[in-house]
Amino acid sequence: MSDQEELKQHFAQRVIHQAREVLEVWQQLQRSEWNGDYHAALTEATTRLRRFADRFEQAEHSELALSIEDCLGDIRDNRGRLSSSTISTLSQLIYRLARTGLRHSDPHNQSFLPPLSKPVYIALQDPQRAEHLVRQLDFFSMSAQAFTDVAAFRTAMHRRHPAAIVMDVDFNGPGEGLRLAEQVQQGLEAKLPMLFFSHAETDTPTRLAAVRAGGLEFFTGTLDASSLLEKIEIFTRTAHYEPIRVLIIDDSRAQATHTERVLNNAGIVTQTLIEPIQAISVLAEFQPDLIILDMYMPECLGTELAKVIRQHERYVSVPIIYLSAEDDLDKQLDAMGEGGDDFLTKPIKPSHLIATVRTRATRARSLKARIVRDSLTGLYNHTHSLQLLEDARFRALRDNRPLSFAMLDIDHFKQVNDTFGHPMGDRVIKSLALFLKQRLRKTDHIGRYGGEEFAVVLPDTPAEAACKVLNEIRQRFAEIRFPAQPQDLSCTFSCGITELTGDAEVKVLTQQADEALYRAKHGGRNRVERY
Ligand code: GH3
Ligand code: MG
Ligand code: MG
Repeated sequence: MSDQEELKQHFAQRVIHQAREVLEVWQQLQRSEWNGDYHAALTEATTRLRRFADRFEQAEHSELALSIEDCLGDIRDNRGRLSSSTISTLSQLIYRLARTGLRHSDPHNQSFLPPLSKPVYIALQDPQRAEHLVRQLDFFSMSAQAFTDVAAFRTAMHRRHPAAIVMDVDFNGPGEGLRLAEQVQQGLEAKLPMLFFSHAETDTPTRLAAVRAGGLEFFTGTLDASSLLEKIEIFTRTAHYEPIRVLIIDDSRAQATHTERVLNNAGIVTQTLIEPIQAISVLAEFQPDLIILDMYMPECLGTELAKVIRQHERYVSVPIIYLSAEDDLDKQLDAMGEGGDDFLTKPIKPSHLIATVRTRATRARSLKARIVRDSLTGLYNHTHSLQLLEDARFRALRDNRPLSFAMLDIDHFKQVNDTFGHPMGDRVIKSLALFLKQRLRKTDHIGRYGGEEFAVVLPDTPAEAACKVLNEIRQRFAEIRFPAQPQDLSCTFSCGITELTGDAEVKVLTQQADEALYRAKHGGRNRVERY
């Protein structure tokens, strides 16, 4: 690299560093409420980002910062109040900011996400395992450092704080890792993301101790790079953050407006429905994380509507909170029996309402994630992938937008299992999953369709564009060398793509993609074919 390029890299890094600061300020909103101080902090961080970006000619960052500043201006003009549309716009901008890395200036950086500015510290009992993890994380542009003894770990901690720590509970002796983690956290103003690992299954006291030492996650058994990477990204980035969405069903507009204001101020996106009879179509369209339901409406009772909602398979687990002036405990309990999850009595303290919505919605999200996701890869499972394709098809037809659907299948995968063993096969599957997640857009849906088959739904994408993206991914994936015995392993996949034409049903789309995939296989594999 020439001096000039190196200098450019250095400046770009500083811009990214500043972008991370904006992300971090934004993230605080998840735990607090919007106010003047918060507004000022976000404005300051954003303005600094724009200045840096301008000076170092990072056009994309500069443009994003400018848009965020515009949003902040709108909020100020709206007397410091957040609205659902500004929350949505802001979170999209912040998300794009999180995805804007060095990709233009640095062809070697494969990741779309900006690399973490700090490394991850890994302290395991087994030094070989630790080194292996470091190499694996490096595949995905995450820098990590392994430690074998406490002294070196402490020295590193003094020199520089990491983005996160992976700590073996038994690092340096039984239970010693836990104690070390506790000591490290004690001196810190802001706790570091701590992920614990135990080779063996552990008991509840150990897990409790881990929680007390600031443990956000507890891994047992074998620790693999992809699940580790995914967790670290969740804890250290805002990329995965999407605002909570709440549907308010209330016949009184005044009451609904009040509820909206309180929730919007906490960064929660809302939609109000005055006529309960439209509930089902609005649910399908808005896809809320939670529903707030008025108890007494002229058209129908809240409990009746809750029953109707629960009759739809898709909304069985969306939390419903009743909001009512009813303070008769018996009636409240009856209502809960009718498909509700909680009961809040008017007038309610804003902080109480916010806390209830946040906890309920967050838990519902993580529950849902477990139901609709495949446990090996964390991708959507077969059923849910098809459901997402169905939704995407509906939107594409309604908005008259293109939609592509892709099916991928790893080539000669049986051979991988036969030669290197099933666990290695699993690792390849997980790596491809992670690879797809890193390289596709957030609006694309990625599913594990079957054993070594994947499905990708690409809204707003014509087939040519989908082919181009997947072809790039195919080439990149083929370049990965998985460390293995007796020699390193590399894998390829074949892919079939189709685009929605007319109002073709989901079943037709899957058949078409499958047919294209079949052609890719028969044409020699390691290729992308279009239906
Ligand atoms: P082709 O190029 O034609 O796709 O050949 P292939 O060997 O990949 O195709 P085939 O469908 O015959 O074999 C797929 C193999 O994938 C069979 C199955 O044992 C293996 N497999 C399926 N699910 C998993 C999994 O979760 N883990 C592992 N390790 N292997 C799996
Ligand atoms: Mg197959
Ligand atoms: Mg295969």
